[in-house]
Parts: sequence; structure tokens; C-alpha cells
Amino acid sequence: MTVYLVGAGPGDPGLLTLRGAAVLRMADVVVYDRLSVADLLDLAPPEAERIAVGKAPGRATMEQADINALLVERGKAGQHVVRLKGGDPFVFARGGEEAAALADAGVPFEVVPGITSAVAVPAYAGIPLTLRHSSTSFTVVTGHEDPAVGDEGSVNWEAAARLGGTIVVLMGVARIRRIAERLVAGGLSPDTPAASVTWGTRPEQRTVRATLGTIADQDLAAPATIVIGEVAGSDLAWFERRPLFGRRIVVTRTREQASELVDRLRAMGADTVELPAIEIVDPPDGGAALRAAAEAVGAYDWAVFTSANGVHRFFAELPDTRALGTVLVAAIGPGTAAALAQYRVVADLVPERFVAESLLDSFPAASAGSRHRVLLARAAVARDVLPDGLRAKGWDVDVVDAYETRAATPTAAQLDRVATADAVTFTSSSTVERYLEIAGPDRVPPIVACIGPITAATARDHGLTVTIEAGVHTVAGLVDAIAFHLAR
Ligand code: SAH
Repeated sequence: MTVYLVGAGPGDPGLLTLRGAAVLRMADVVVYDRLSVADLLDLAPPEAERIAVGKAPGRATMEQADINALLVERGKAGQHVVRLKGGDPFVFARGGEEAAALADAGVPFEVVPGITSAVAVPAYAGIPLTLRHSSTSFTVVTGHEDPAVGDEGSVNWEAAARLGGTIVVLMGVARIRRIAERLVAGGLSPDTPAASVTWGTRPEQRTVRATLGTIADQDLAAPATIVIGEVAGSDLAWFERRPLFGRRIVVTRTREQASELVDRLRAMGADTVELPAIEIVDPPDGGAALRAAAEAVGAYDWAVFTSANGVHRFFAELPDTRALGTVLVAAIGPGTAAALAQYRVVADLVPERFVAESLLDSFPAASAGSRHRVLLARAAVARDVLPDGLRAKGWDVDVVDAYETRAATPTAAQLDRVATADAVTFTSSSTVERYLEIAGPDRVPPIVACIGPITAATARDHGLTVTIEAGVHTVAGLVDAIAFHLAR
């Protein structure tokens, strides 16, 4: 198959190209660097192999020759290989060497360009690289050269200075003093504006503004993109001015849940930490009862579903959709009905309100003389309201465990990020309880934000101080309340 050299962009996962996302979704193996973003790795199938090859402090680095050999070997083995590289794969990224190794070995490859940090990072700092009259070119230069070429390197900084346009320096933090001196020697004024942007396009973005004469005295940190020229004096900052920029907010959620809360917080600039509170796993019997029920579903009069998860689990076990035949189907609410619709099954019954009691009220009574069997596929531990109520209406109910929910186990990295967050969000009483179970009472950020009074009461019952209680009890209402409280 093919080896894809994919540009991942500078950090904001939204800056991956559509082509990059498409090849990642089909990956058998992803070979990535330290600067790669977890969100992008998540695009690869869960079973895809993930191999880290980048430099990381305290970890052995894979030599470039070994990376080349790995790509060749996996490509020859017929795998769909994605080599994920920061920014653009052919801009200071040794993508050219990898492509050459693949070409030499006769392994087919494709280059998927990425948005280079040289262009994207200044954009996120509000620095246009060109201006119609004053800055008519930009030069992208490496500040870190192969040591083999000697201390002064082969970059002709004096010539770059004489070009008169914008100079963008990548990998320049460590040598910025010498670079600035040489640019001044080349004729640039020490008063020329200079800006350094660390971790651009990410929630940690930090812009330092100075001049060519003073930039080396600033507190700069790598990885940074340094911009030198008149344009670096313009301050069209937008990214760092979003209302929740620089705020770290924990979202307690199930992995499978819709990500509306995360999306809305990120759109306001927040750095979100997703703490999976609940995991959906196989039921205690491994799904045996569900499988048997799915195979014999034609023998039931009704199939009742109380969650989208139950629907997906059931259809995964159904050998032939036609087995449903004339079985009537009930969904507890619109989300469950929408899951059924994915299998082209239109629910015969969806109650007005999304609770078991409401489903019971609208469920018909079993008529005497006919068959009256109900299949109820649901979570392993659930309330008995529904089966008891259906039985009271004369139905013969088989309760089948479709899945089980249990507390998820967070990674150490997740817990570290949680410990330094500014706020935690709770969208239900169970998220409060799960959060305390998983992160512990010592890891509750200073600000606790709840979607409504019931959730807030649960939080208080557990000894938490609730700072924010949304007036409108929706995800949008919660985000508005947080923005109102936390906006700078
Ligand atoms: N192929 C990459 C560049 C790799 S060299 C690209 O096209 O962007 C690594 C250098 O890129 C870093 O030292 C830094 O100068 C720059 N860089 C990469 N990501 C960055 C980021 N998020 N913010 C600022 N600079 C970044």
C-alpha cells in the first residue's frame, strides 16, 4: 500500500487538511512526532498502531535513518502508513529525506501538505506576513542548522536583512542573540519590530513583542516562530483575546457522548480537558443474552430501547434486519429514536418526555388472547420502573443487558491537566459523583460550574462550593454562564 507523509499543521487540530483527515481515518499505523496533537491521533481507527518517534525530554530519540527504515518496512509490508509531521512535511521537517528513502525502496508514497507554522502561527498572533506597500516578501529561515556546517552556519542572514521584507525564523530561540546581531550587521535597524510566538495556534499560545535590539533579552521559549519586520509591530491579536483564552476547563463526559460542550468552550478559546467519567463496556454476560434475543427478535411484539447505546449494541448483534419484521419498536426519547433511524427503523412509539414514566404512560396495555412479549434492551444496572410497569400492563417482559456503564480510568496525563484547571463543569448529578470517584476531592478546580439546581445541589451535598449555576439549563446556557464569570 502507500506511505502518506502528512502535514498535521502547527497544533490547532482544525488546521489539518481534509485529505490529511481522510488518510488518517484509514491508517493501519501512524508514525508521529512529539509535537503531534492527541486529537489528530484520535482520528486514526482505535486499532491502528501508533508509534512515537519524536524527540522528547528524557526519552530515546529514533534516528532519522531508523525512521526512514521503519516507513520503508511498513510500506513494503503492505500497510497503510501515515507519517504525521508538524506543520508541512516538506518545511524543515526532513520529509524530503523520508520521501527519498521511500522512492529508493520503490515504496509508493503520497505527500499531503500541511499548514506550516511559518504562516499559521503569525496569523494566530494577528501578524500579517505581508503588507501591500511596506512588506512585499517573506523569507522563512531556520535558526538551527546542522552543526556540521560550523558555528555561523550557512544561512546568509546579512542577505536576508537586505531583502527588506518579513523574516520568519523557525527553531531560532536558542540562537536568537546571534541571529539578531547578524541581521543588524546586514543593515536592519535595531528598532525593527520583532515578535516571538510560542506554542502558536494552541491554547498555550504566548506572544512576546519586542524589537530586533531587545528580542534576545526577552523570556522566550521553544517551540516558537519569530517574526521580524514592520509587520511584527501590528497587533491584530484575536486568538489570545477570545473570552476564555488561557482558561483550562474540565469537561466530565462519557467518551461516546456528543461533544457540544467541548466545541462551545473551545470556540470561546478555552483549553478543554476531557475527563471520561463513564465507559460503555460489554455487559457482565459478554452480550450472550443480547445476542440470543437479537436472533429471536421476531418472537416479540415490541422491542423497547432506552438509549442510543442500547440500539447500537442490539443492531450489532442482529444477523438480518428483516428479522425485525412486524415487531413494534419503542424509543424512550429523540436521541434513541435518532439512533434507530440510523438503521432505517422508524420508532412506532416515542413519548413526549424522555423518562421511563412517560414511556410507560404512552405504552399500550397488552390485549388478552394475543401474544404479549416485550424485549427490553438496556444498561445492565438500571431502574426497575420500566419492566415493573410494563408487567403491570400485562406484558411478558424480557430484560436483556445490552451494555454496562462503569467509571472510566483516566490517564496520569489527564489527571495532571485536571489538577491545574481553572474550572470543572458538571452537566448532571452523576457527573459530579463520577468526577469525585475518578479525580478525587483533592483535584477539584477552584471554580465549579453546574448546569442547573439539581446538579448544583448534588455538588454541594458532596462538599463542593458551587461558583456558577447556569440560569438556562442547557449546554449553551452553561457555557454562557462560564463565559460571563471567567471572561477577562
Ligand atoms: N514542518 C514544520 C516545522 C518543523 S521545525 C512546519 O512546517 O511548521 C520545528 C519548528 O517549527 C519549531 O522549532 C518552531 O520554530 C516551529 N513551530 C512548530 N510548531 C509551532 C507552534 N505551534 N508554535 C510556534 N512555532 C512552532
